Amino acid sequence: MSQVYDRVALIGLGLIASSMFWAIKRAGLAGEVTGFARSQTTRDTARKIGLCDRICDTAAEAVKDADLVVLCVPVGVMGDVAAEIGGSLKPGATVSDVGSVKRQVIDAVSPHLPEGVHFVPAHPIAGTEHSGPESGFAELFDNRWCLLIVDEETDLDAVQKVSDLWKGMGADVEQMDADHHDLVLAVTSHTPHLIAYTMVGVADDLRRVSESEVIKYSASGFRDFTRIAASDPTMWRDVFLSNKDATLEILGRFTEELFALQRAIRQGDGEHLHDYFTRTREIRRGIIEAGQDTDAPDFGRGKAH
Ligand code: NAP
Repeated sequence: MSQVYDRVALIGLGLIASSMFWAIKRAGLAGEVTGFARSQTTRDTARKIGLCDRICDTAAEAVKDADLVVLCVPVGVMGDVAAEIGGSLKPGATVSDVGSVKRQVIDAVSPHLPEGVHFVPAHPIAGTEHSGPESGFAELFDNRWCLLIVDEETDLDAVQKVSDLWKGMGADVEQMDADHHDLVLAVTSHTPHLIAYTMVGVADDLRRVSESEVIKYSASGFRDFTRIAASDPTMWRDVFLSNKDATLEILGRFTEELFALQRAIRQGDGEHLHDYFTRTREIRRGIIEAGQDTDAPDFGRGKAH
């Protein structure tokens, strides 16, 4: 894959932006990558580890003359950042983002983009529970999906280039509309995270009466919940506040299913439980067959990323 953009600016320098930088470098997809993060500490760390070709002290400076600007900040501040950079964008530039929620980000960002600047929202379906500038790695997006949000007003040339960039970073690209995206992600990501947070919270209460046995015997299933529940608190607070309707819809369904299983257990309805678990096991097989996880005993997560 050859160079897609002359100059790319990454705003926010956490897990996703740092992984993008290393993946862009791996494939030579941009002439220069500039970067900006809110705190001096993060900017200093980025300079120290060689993250980005140039770290700027303001967002406006980072986006100046950039052909592509990618907002890699928590969903709740996307609008503020767009307002900050709107006046400094190069005419004809493309703005994209990597937010885990799309409708609210589009509504927050679009009003701040000047005429002639294209907006191609994106969401890479890849991540880890780690955050910050040192957590990124070039392989994060390999064989993972990146969803691009496209409607009838989106500039197709701009979409093509954003798509080329993500493919160059190792991802498979698909297009989707914003509301459908938010519902799909409420099922596959947002609600599971909320359930993991709840389960770990419940176990934390129990720990007080069972003297650390929850930790000691965690390999029996609980451990995998704790990995998800260790995810960044700011990012996930913003996700739930921004994808409120879809998450509440899926949580309602989850609660109904939970009650049905609760009743089956109370009534000794083994057939119901067995049928249910057979169905869910099939879903796990499907995920492995689709190459979205491995069937290694530790789900291939032994290597710490
Ligand atoms: P992260 O590691 O927590 O990093 C967030 C970065 O945003 C930090 O560098 C932070 O700067 C910066 N930031 C926050 N507020 C800012 C502001 N007002 N102006 C400029 N910079 C600001 O986050 P991440 O995991 O990379 O997530 C970034 C985005 O990707 C989020 O929208 C998230 O929904 C999405 N996403 C995440 C995952 C995942 O698994 N993590 C997966 C897909 C998509 P400081 O360090 O200076 O505070």
